[in-house]
Amino acid sequence: MPKFTLPSSGESRAFSALSSADSLQDALAAHFEPASKTLIASSKMTPHHVEKRWQTLNQPEAQAQLWDDQTQRNLAHYSKNIEYFIGTVKVPVGIAGPLRVNGLHANDDFLIPLATTEAALVASYHRGCKLITAAGGTSVMLLNEGVTRTPVFAFDDLAQAGQFIAWVTTQYEHFKQLAQATTAHGQLHDINVTMEGNHVYLVFDYLTGDACGQNMVTIATNAVFEFIVRHSPIEPRHAFLDGNLSGDKKANSHVLRHVRGKKVTAEVHLSAELIKKYLHTTPETMVKFAEMTTIGGVLSGSVGINAHYANALTAFSIACGQDPACVAESAVGITRMELNSQGGLYACVTLPNLMVGTVGGGTSLPSQNACLALLGLTGSGNARALAEVVAGLCLAGELSIAGAFSAGHFSRAHHKLAR
Ligand code: NAP
Repeated sequence: MPKFTLPSSGESRAFSALSSADSLQDALAAHFEPASKTLIASSKMTPHHVEKRWQTLNQPEAQAQLWDDQTQRNLAHYSKNIEYFIGTVKVPVGIAGPLRVNGLHANDDFLIPLATTEAALVASYHRGCKLITAAGGTSVMLLNEGVTRTPVFAFDDLAQAGQFIAWVTTQYEHFKQLAQATTAHGQLHDINVTMEGNHVYLVFDYLTGDACGQNMVTIATNAVFEFIVRHSPIEPRHAFLDGNLSGDKKANSHVLRHVRGKKVTAEVHLSAELIKKYLHTTPETMVKFAEMTTIGGVLSGSVGINAHYANALTAFSIACGQDPACVAESAVGITRMELNSQGGLYACVTLPNLMVGTVGGGTSLPSQNACLALLGLTGSGNARALAEVVAGLCLAGELSIAGAFSAGHFSRAHHKLAR
């Protein structure tokens, strides 16, 4: 009988290379000598400061790549987006589509820029977009909007917490005025209270216009927070501007029945012929794949059920000046596939936590703004349409990947395009 030796599993592998307790102590010991390289103290973005940082780095080839002529010409554009600047990274951008979107806010055939270093990603979305367009497009509805900030206050006991809440509920109109004074486009439209023992969370809920809104709601809520700390009849023992109830940059199950950012749903009906032509499989196989992977998602403890919204959202975010870290929350949602009454496929996606905007964040940076311009969705009045396009894009990706697995082509496509 052949003998198989398995490597030692999990975290024990990390220690196996260190033979003794002494070498572990040596590896992890603190060192107090001055750092060998120190950056210029100021975080400013003048050519002088950038050059100083490169002197410290002393890597001419990297400097030529990152601190190139075009980056130097565009220097001023980046000043509100980064500190300790040294240059720009060039991420390849592909274009997927056309994606026909029949939405409440977006109604057009869209060619969608996607920035990624992952082979097969743009090809997969391109295929899904073309399939949807051949089927007449995706019907899309933006259902709800809202972004929260959630200050938290600690008191001695329940009685104090209760008295605090009684005072807070008399102050709503004043809170609204304070928040409103900080923003022309933001609107505080609700305040909710959640009590947990002697802790009180206040949930400030805003509409943020065409901005994604996290800075906007932070600044507006801070104005109210400072007022509360100064004027509350019950002095909190501790108070923090956010108590982590907002869901900011974290996947959370609460949002599945509510909204953070924009809640959008998109659907398509596909005939068996179109599925054969574009995906080389059948509606029945796609439905079985969806059923089995839904159960797999449940078994894995996934929040929501989807195949890979994160791929679309990350590549779109990098191209179009959104904050890619919001993918942590935006990639929550539900994909569903079933047979329709004509024996074709009905597929839909629902994303309740899309954090996208057409102003603010990185949307006005030169190449990011150019990508939004390719979509025809720059500036005021376009954020809702952008959210509908992104939901349609996620649907395209779900169909393409489900098709690839159903046809047994998933590995082959990656082997062909990435190796
Ligand atoms: P922002 O650029 O900070 O704010 C949007 C700005 O655009 C506001 O000054 C707003 O003015 C103005 N504006 C002009 N036209 C507008 C329109 N049609 N609709 C809405 N606003 C309009 O952007 P943000 O979306 O609030 O913040 C997004 C950035 O914050 C992202 O990069 C995100 O990663 C980052 N972020 C911040 C925090 C935080 O707690 N600070 C947390 C997570 C992420 P008015 O306000 O005067 O209307």
